[in-house]
Amino acid sequence: MAGQYTLTMIKPDAVSSNYTGGILKMINEAGFRIAAMKYTRLTREQAMKFYEVHRERPFYEGLVEFMSSGPIVAALLEKENAIAAFRELIGATNPANAAPGTIRALYARDVQQNAVHGSDSDENALIESDFFFSRLERF
Ligand code: UDP
Ligand code: MG
Repeated sequence: MAGQYTLTMIKPDAVSSNYTGGILKMINEAGFRIAAMKYTRLTREQAMKFYEVHRERPFYEGLVEFMSSGPIVAALLEKENAIAAFRELIGATNPANAAPGTIRALYARDVQQNAVHGSDSDENALIESDFFFSRLERF
């Protein structure tokens, strides 16, 4: 398959609620191929770096705190039109606005603790996958 790539994280809220299996099942059933995956925990510094595009936003400090509060699952996903398809599968940032049946509608707590990350562009998918995975970790 020569699809597009997107980077996801199952965030600390979803991992600690034991939603990892349910979320990975939805990702598999939606036809994404897992090209790389790891269970890890971001340091505060790593969370700051990952979300540096948002450093001027009012929610940045809370987001960094939350994203470094516990383990996550990071994965590189491949599918045709993966970035848009995954954004559709996860739903709106705020679960109150997420379409029924989306990952965030099912599993997110609120606008911050919203269960999953999904890349928003090819450029950021590349930056984000290089953040987590070496060449030897991608298949
Ligand atoms: N976020 C938040 N408050 C907000 C908006 C976003 O805490 O008002 C958090 C939330 O965890 C979100 C992340 O910051 O997923 C990145 O925000 P973005 O706008 O990129 O949303 P996403 O692309 O994740 O839907
Ligand atoms: Mg985003």
